[in-house]
Amino acid sequence: MNDLIESINVELPQYQCGRCDTPGCKPYATEIANGTPPNRCVPGGQETLDKITKILGQKRSVLNENYGPPLNHQVAKVIEDDCIGCKKCIDACPVDAIIGSANLMHTIIEDLCTGCELCIEPCPVDCIELLPITNERSSEIRKKSEKFFILKNFIQDGKTKRKQLNKNIHLNTELSMQINAKINKRSLNKNKALKKMQIGLLQANKNEKYVNSKDIDKLISTLKK
Ligand code: SF4
Ligand code: SF4
Ligand code: SF4
Repeated sequence: MNDLIESINVELPQYQCGRCDTPGCKPYATEIANGTPPNRCVPGGQETLDKITKILGQKRSVLNENYGPPLNHQVAKVIEDDCIGCKKCIDACPVDAIIGSANLMHTIIEDLCTGCELCIEPCPVDCIELLPITNERSSEIRKKSEKFFILKNFIQDGKTKRKQLNKNIHLNTELSMQINAKINKRSLNKNKALKKMQIGLLQANKNEKYVNSKDIDKLISTLKK
């Protein structure tokens, strides 16, 4: 069963957008392997569906457009002057590509953003825009999105201790304040500063019992690339 799930998952586009009515691509691959119709990934298009029906040994079927619309190759960007720091976009992002703390400006790490659009609707001041990127760039980002999707779920799941959460919030706030101060000077490489912050958060989680430190090391080395 695991091999089947993996071979289906590999064909899915890894936007982690939830349009198929599951939280992400691997959960949908698991449902397909258990008998759910494979025609709900509209961002993947007919080509993806054809590959999956072939794996399943089923007859060709048609994409169910009710689960659309499709997604463009894009990344999200916060219009920084308008952001009020409400944090709603952070909760919505399936891959933790957004950094910021309450009442401070938020920013998106473009290297992690799949362009899934989940942060657009929750933003109360409509200050997130979508910028087109090339097919190659989008595919490069989406290829590694599952790792960040797993980490986000990890941190959100019920095993996370309140103490650890508080520690992370404190750390996040401190780092965000430092980064905001630096960003305001506009003389720093913003992406580099944000990556440093995310690496700091990952390292802070590394020694927790419920975290696989090898996974964290892999995520850190992906960020450092
Ligand atoms: S890309 Fe979106 S719609 Fe397609 S399988 Fe992944 S989460 Fe579901
Ligand atoms: S920043 Fe927005 S568009 Fe990008 S992955 Fe997160 S929720 Fe999706
Ligand atoms: S939802 Fe909009 S206003 Fe709120 S923190 Fe995110 S970008 Fe800023």
